[in-house]
Amino acid sequence: MLTLEKVTAGYHRLQILHEISIEVNEGEIVSIVGANGAGKTTTLNTIAGLVKPTSGSITFAGKPAGGRRPSDLVQEGLVLVPEGRALFGNLSVEENLQMGGWSRDRADLTGSMDDVFELFPILRERRAQVAETFSGGQQQMLAIGRALMAKPKLLMLDEPSTGLSPKLTWAVLDAIKRIRDTGVAVLLVEQNASQALAMADRAYVLESGSVVLEGPGPQLAQDDRVRAAYLGM
Ligand code: ATP
Repeated sequence: MLTLEKVTAGYHRLQILHEISIEVNEGEIVSIVGANGAGKTTTLNTIAGLVKPTSGSITFAGKPAGGRRPSDLVQEGLVLVPEGRALFGNLSVEENLQMGGWSRDRADLTGSMDDVFELFPILRERRAQVAETFSGGQQQMLAIGRALMAKPKLLMLDEPSTGLSPKLTWAVLDAIKRIRDTGVAVLLVEQNASQALAMADRAYVLESGSVVLEGPGPQLAQDDRVRAAYLGM
């Protein structure tokens, strides 16, 4: 569904990603783990069209995706939940969700909103409340819900557990598994490496902008180098 082949990207003359190759297949959760500054956010932003690749190729759903407009990629089903969530703080839950469905016919949005409320019942209870009054966990649920309103084929999540308690982290990661079970592929970036690896069908370890290890998530979690560098063992 998504293939990156030897993608290089960065900011101005500063090269951050060095020929990275990553693949996400239908029905998979794929995790990218790595230290602060390894280039995880830059990878997602490059896939989403926010950073232009300088070489290599990106293919999504059979079509070239590298360097395309972010809004066109959203319409084709490539949707990012950014780091920091970027909610409309003074808008209600319902209004935030409607904004997420901007690329679709209004008539199709009611069913999608019901699906989001089924996944996160707290959002239904608080549908009229403005987003800025929410806890971090509820805001993350809303950010994921808003992305689902665009009907993604591939959902990319940048550090969804940042700032959340262990209980809420578990709730958010569990929701991500349920989203995958509805047929949406997931590309997950996490510093919380142990959970991100445990739940990943496949995973990549990024170091200084290069992929240094890849394999089934639970298998990588057993790798001595990964255990020492990312799992504190
Ligand atoms: P973190 O977990 O801290 O977000 P990360 O693995 O997501 O880390 P990136 O945010 O992709 O890493 O950053 C990779 C490198 O790119 C870092 O050295 C960072 O300082 C640099 N960088 C990120 N954004 C920009 C920017 N807009 N302009 C210049 N350099 C940037």
